[in-house]
Parts: sequence; structure tokens; C-alpha cells
Amino acid sequence: MNILVTGGAGYIGSHTCIELLDAGFTPIVFDNLSNSSTIALDRVKQITGQTITFIKGDVRDAEALDHVFNEYNIYAVIHFAGLKAVGESVEKPLMYYDNNVSGSITLFGAMERNTVSRVIFSSSATVYGDPATVPITEDFPTSTTNPYGGSKLIIEDVLKNIHIAHPEWNIALLRYFNPVGAHKSGLIGEDPNDIPNNLMPYISGVAVGKLEQLSIFGGDYPTPDGTGVRDYIHVVDLAKGHVKALQAFENPSVDNLYTVNLGTGKGYSVLEMVAAFNKASNKPIKYQITDRRAGDIACCYADPSYAKTLIDWEATMGVQVMCDDTWRWQSNHPTGYKTND
Ligand code: NAD
Ligand code: UDP
Repeated sequence: MNILVTGGAGYIGSHTCIELLDAGFTPIVFDNLSNSSTIALDRVKQITGQTITFIKGDVRDAEALDHVFNEYNIYAVIHFAGLKAVGESVEKPLMYYDNNVSGSITLFGAMERNTVSRVIFSSSATVYGDPATVPITEDFPTSTTNPYGGSKLIIEDVLKNIHIAHPEWNIALLRYFNPVGAHKSGLIGEDPNDIPNNLMPYISGVAVGKLEQLSIFGGDYPTPDGTGVRDYIHVVDLAKGHVKALQAFENPSVDNLYTVNLGTGKGYSVLEMVAAFNKASNKPIKYQITDRRAGDIACCYADPSYAKTLIDWEATMGVQVMCDDTWRWQSNHPTGYKTND
């Protein structure tokens, strides 16, 4: 069965392609390469022995999408394509709403025209805003503090409205917590374009000597060691969640529209992540504690039990594996996909 994977050359998309192939699906990647490289797909081939059909295109291009839906018999769409840097979204809100929201609307319109009615959407724990308590369940209120989060909430709403108009569509809203790690081969991983915004690529950049030192944003949060707590999830576990979400579309006892958290249910502080990475890399991770980052929250972790009940998915890998795998990728490829093998 052909699965159209928008943004499939990216970090989560490339790992998901491997799991799709492993489960017998055929990924067809559609990506404008604005934040990725086809080298990732070459590496997927190296890992799986299978070639992936790649189409360079933008999800805002209705004609290009119609062409893909005409040419391939698409069973379902996994929609990763989007911009994801929170800080940049504050500076360039129109770019984020255009790329993420307009792109999604154009994609869903093409699906409707071409009678493709199954879609998995990459949402984010950011839609919970600053939760009143943890762990977070799917019925918590949603809110956002930045255009990136705003774009995720709008797209969720668009899909909920599509569900009302087309109750026969199968729609999965997957709310990811903090994806980290890399494929165990060390051949693919996260490869940020500029200075990383997220914690894990920053720590690994310091460990490999590309970055001077980590700034820990805030040491006075109401958490056990004062640093922010998050639910880090191995990207391969996350990728497997998409296969489970696809398979759940065939399960008559699963509602046609559902929302699930993809997290581990465990929270780790920044200092705990630094210690785990230090153990993985055997390198000192130089850091200083600085002011809090605007918009950050103290603590965020999932209650992942609904995903287990509904789609039979749970995370299996802990933070040490996440750090070990990140280090294998980072140390083999200090400059990401620019590093030749
Ligand atoms: P990524 O940047 O590595 O992958 C996104 C891919 O989409 C890239 O390959 C990029 O080139 C492509 N793309 C962007 N705009 C496009 C467009 N208009 N048309 C076609 N392709 C386009 O990011 P990722 O970490 O793999 O994230 C995938 C999805 O998961 C995103 O929607 C992101 O918002 C969401 N998400 C990510 C995280 C995270 O921390 N990584 C957390 C929650 C949700
Ligand atoms: N963080 C940090 N220094 C960095 C990047 C992140 O201290 O250079 C902290 C951040 O304040 C948060 C945690 O690490 O407590 C995870 O941040 P990330 O940006 O990776 O994810 P998000 O904030 O979106 O959950």
C-alpha cells in the first residue's frame, strides 16, 4: 500500500519511512527539501535495501499534489511537512501560517479531490500550552503562545471540521512530545540547518566540539533540580507510532477521528539529559545556567496510556538509548549530512 509521506526527507519522516517499509508499506516521499536532504533517503535505502520514490514538491502546490495522487494509488497520507522553529515563527508568523496552514489546506483539498481519505497529522504537545498539571491527557485544554503552536491548533481544527463534513475520513492527530535520538545504524539523524533551537542537538553539538557551551535556560523552575522537565521520546519509537496509527484505521472499534499523545510518560530535566549525554559520549558537556527562555514552561510530560489502549503503541526506549543513538549519529557525522561517509 502506497503511503504519501509529506516532509518524508526530514528528521521524523526519514525514520518513519524505515518503519513503514519494515511493516510492508510503500512510502512515497513528497518534500520541498527546505529543511532536509535527499541523502537521508539514500541512507534509508542503505539501511533497508529498498529505494524510495521521491518527488520534490511543495505542499502549497495543488497541481503538483494532483499529479502525485493521479500517478500513484495512495492509501493514506502522513503529513510531516512543516516549519518547526518556535522562535522563528514569532519573527515570521506569516511564513509559518502560509507554509503550515495554507500548505495543509492545499494538501487536504487535493486529498478530497482525489478521494484519498486517510491522514495522519504531526501535531505537538505545544498545543497544551502551560498545562495546569502533569501528566497530560488528551482531553486537557489547548492553547498556544506562538505562531508555530497556533498553526498546529488551526490544522487540528481544520481536520476536525473535515471530519464533520466527511465522517468517513480516517484522521489521526498525533501529539508528539520531545522527539530525540537517531536510527541505531548511526546513518540518519537530526541535522538542523543553523544553530539548534532544541536541547538534544545542542548538547550533541557541544559534545562533538561544534558548539562552545550549552546555555541552560533557567535554573529556578519548580522542578527537582530547578531546570525544565520534558518527555523525551526516541524518534524510532515515534516512527513506529505512525505505523500503529495507520493500522488502527482498519480497526472498526477505533473512531474515525482520534487524538493521541506520543510520549513516554516520564519527565527528565535538562541536567539529567546533560548527565545521560555525558555518559553516552564520554565527553564533558560544558554548560552555564542562564535566564529562562521566553515562552518556556517548567514541566511537560504525557500520559501515554490512551495510545496503548487505542492503537496498541507504547514507547520502549529510555533516555540512555536516546543519548547513545544520538551520539553514534553525531560522532559519525559531525556536520550532519554534509559529512561524507
Ligand atoms: P524536519 O524539518 O526535519 O522535517 C520537515 C520536513 O518537511 C523537511 O524535510 C522539510 O524540507 C519539509 N517541508 C517543510 N515545508 C514544506 C512544504 N511546504 N512542502 C513540502 N515539504 C516541506 O522536522 P521534523 O522534526 O521531522 O518534524 C516533522 C513534523 O513533526 C513537523 O510538522 C513538526 O512540526 C512536527 N513536530 C516535530 C517535533 C520535533 O521536535 N521535531 C515535535 C512535535 C511536532
Ligand atoms: N533548553 C535549554 N537550552 C537549550 C535548548 C533547550 O536549556 O539550548 C531547555 C528548554 O528550556 C526546555 C528543554 O531544554 O526546558 C527542552 O527544550 P526544547 O527546545 O528541546 O523543547 P521544548 O521547549 O519545545 O519542549
